[in-house]
Amino acid sequence: MNFLPFALPETGEEEIEEVADTIRSGWMTTGPKVARFETAFAEYIGARYALTVNSATAGLHLALEAAGIGSGDIVVTTPYTFTASAEVIRYLGADPVFVDIDPVTFNLDPLRLQNRLSVMNADEKSRVKAIIPVHFGGQACAMTEIQRLAGEHGLAIIEDAAHALPCTYRGKNIGTIGDATVFSFYVTKTLATGEGGMITTDSEEMAKRIKIMRLHGISRDIWDRYMTSKPNWYYEVVAPGFKYNMPDLMAAIGIHQLRKVDRFQQRRKAIAEQYTLAFKSLPLRTPIVKNPEDVHSWHLYVIQLALEKLVINRDVFIEKMAEKGIGTSVHFIPLHLHPYWRDRYGFAQEDFPVAYDCFRRAVSLPIYSKMTDVDVERVIKAVKVILCEGVRA
Ligand SMILES: *Cc1c(COP(=O)(O)O)cnc(C)c1O
Repeated sequence: MNFLPFALPETGEEEIEEVADTIRSGWMTTGPKVARFETAFAEYIGARYALTVNSATAGLHLALEAAGIGSGDIVVTTPYTFTASAEVIRYLGADPVFVDIDPVTFNLDPLRLQNRLSVMNADEKSRVKAIIPVHFGGQACAMTEIQRLAGEHGLAIIEDAAHALPCTYRGKNIGTIGDATVFSFYVTKTLATGEGGMITTDSEEMAKRIKIMRLHGISRDIWDRYMTSKPNWYYEVVAPGFKYNMPDLMAAIGIHQLRKVDRFQQRRKAIAEQYTLAFKSLPLRTPIVKNPEDVHSWHLYVIQLALEKLVINRDVFIEKMAEKGIGTSVHFIPLHLHPYWRDRYGFAQEDFPVAYDCFRRAVSLPIYSKMTDVDVERVIKAVKVILCEGVRA
């Protein structure tokens, strides 16, 4: 029996040819293909700047740094995410404050956010500097409410859009709303270069700082200004920067992936609709789309098992899917359950009850453009059989 993986990138001869061309050219690191990828991406999103990095994690770190986050600051985010969203806060010596999620979207709950901000003591109030909304699964967060609260409290908005390409909120592309937005091109994401990421921003000041910090703190402005009068070995270091640049080898793949990103989304959307229709009367909750007129990237399709009606739990369901040769995953193990976050901030399981309850029920099913109709039918049949056998008498 052949195994259906949980995720697979879709690449064609175009990507292979472009990578081969990069190798033949002799210019494998950051160069002309990165410039092409950035220009095309900025145009696609409608952002003033698009800046490549070697991962979304690096991008989130740089965006927070450029927003001025430093030691002792507080950044608000969700516990229902990958650890990268929060670890970057710690890189800068700042602390996360987690706010529980909306059980319908798995996104930061704007009402809980408002409450958490309003109960902050004077010390917390003086330290809180930014919000990281995570567009879970590719459905946009409640950005109107988040922007209003950020405005009231003077907070920067750095969006974790690792799942959100393409994605819109009230007609605007994600990537054009917050102070900066960070996309991931990790192999499982909706645009895959193996490893990689992109930061979009309209702020010239942030773009300048990010460009300097992503490559050793070397100032390009100084470089360009003196290029004609200084010998070409000359450069100036203005800060202790990082080594976060994207090589042309990755950008070569990205250029072609970007052209296909809408087609990939259309296929995933069709799969999501098929799943939702097929699972209608099963003991589970299918994903709920809050604003049907907006683009959902459908990076993830997360079902929530109605555990009350079942004799099997989520882990057994996943084992049974694997026995039928189908890969699944869980998004996410909430951060407050992980030893590092739990012990560092003294969290208990019940501190984020919505996140915990969603986690207990959540299973991510395969959803990617390379899936055939037969693959989709196979997943549907497996879910039906397992849940019909597992239903409480
Ligand atoms: C994948 C992911 C990241 C990290 O992306 P990398 O490109 O692997 O660094 C960050 N946040 C979320 C929500 C993710 O799913």
